[in-house]
Amino acid sequence: MLRAKASPISASADQSKQKVAVTGAGGRTGSLVFQKLVSSSKYAPVGVVRSEKSKDGLLKKSGAAPEQVIVGDIMESPAVLDRAMAGADALVIATSAVPKIKPLSLIPVILAKITGKEGVRPQFTFKEDQMPEQIDWIGQKLQIDAAKRAGVRKVVLVGSMGGTQKDNFLNTIGDGQILVWKRRAEKYLIDSGLGYCIIHPGGLKDDEGGMREIVLNVDDIFLEDKAGPRSIPRADVAELCVQSLELTENRSIDCVARNPGEGKPTVDFAALFSSMGRNCSYSDMKNDPVVGSFASKGV
Ligand code: NAP
Repeated sequence: MLRAKASPISASADQSKQKVAVTGAGGRTGSLVFQKLVSSSKYAPVGVVRSEKSKDGLLKKSGAAPEQVIVGDIMESPAVLDRAMAGADALVIATSAVPKIKPLSLIPVILAKITGKEGVRPQFTFKEDQMPEQIDWIGQKLQIDAAKRAGVRKVVLVGSMGGTQKDNFLNTIGDGQILVWKRRAEKYLIDSGLGYCIIHPGGLKDDEGGMREIVLNVDDIFLEDKAGPRSIPRADVAELCVQSLELTENRSIDCVARNPGEGKPTVDFAALFSSMGRNCSYSDMKNDPVVGSFASKGV
C-alpha cells in the first residue's frame, strides 16, 4: 500500500513499490536492512544517516540513488524525519546510542588475559549528549511521533534481548541503562496505535547471513539457557526486519541463531514467525512512570 501524499523525496520512480524509511541506515544493522530493501522488487527505501561520509559509503554499498539517502540527525531536526517518512508505508528504526570503549580500561583487561584472571571487562562511555536516554528513548519517541504524523502504517524496531533484566550487564555500560530506555521506547511504540514488529536480537555478529537456523522466543527465555545460542548475525536480523514488513499482526520477539550445521538455515520466514505464538509481555511496564506520563496525556 502506497499512500498518495506529497513527498519531497521520491524513493523510486516505480510508484508500485512500498516506501520504507530506514533510520540508522549508516549503522551496521541498518545499512544491511537498507541494502536488502534496495535490492528487493517490492520496496523503495529512504535511509537516514548522520554524515555525508556515511551517505557516500551507503550509496557505494547499496547502489541506491543519491536522493534515497538523507543526511540528518534524528535529535536535531523533525524536518529530517518528516522528509524521510513523507509518503512512507513503514519505518525501520535501527538507531541506537553507540558506546565507545575507554582505551585505558583495556590495560587491566590485557593484564587479566596474561595472568588468567577472569571477569575483567573493558569500560565504555557514551558521548554526553548521546546517552541511551537521549537516543534510545527520546530519539525513538521522536521517530514514532513522526511516523504517526506521516501516516506510516508499521514500525519495525531493532531493540535488544535482556530488556526484562534491570540488572543486565548492558545497563551498566557507561551508566547508560540502555536496555531500560530501549524498553520504554518499545512500550511507547506498542501504546502508539501504529502497527509494529519489535525484534530483540541476542549478541550481534558480523558473520554472513542466511547460513543459520534462526530461533525465536519471548521475554529473555534464551538468557536462562547458559548452553544455548545467544547470538545472531546482523545480516539475519536485517532479513528478519525486511520479512517482518509482510506481517499483518503485531509482534515482539527475541531472536538468536544456531551455529551453522546445527539445524537448517531459515528460509521460510512466515513459518518462523508463526513458530512463536506468543509476544513479549511487557507486564512489568504497566506502571512505568516515564512511559505512563505520556499515556495519561494521550500522546
Ligand atoms: P550501530 O552500528 O551502532 O548503529 C547505530 C546507528 O545509529 C549508527 O548508524 C548511528 O549513526 C545511528 N545514530 C545514533 N544516534 C543518531 C542520531 N542522533 N541521529 C541519526 N542517527 C543516529 O548498530 P548495531 O550494532 O548494528 O545495532 C543495531 C541495534 O541492535 C542497536 O539498537 C543495538 O543497541 C542493538 N543490539 C546490539 C547488540 C550488540 O551485540 N551490539 C546486541 C543486541 C542488540 P552513526 O553511524 O553516525 O554513528
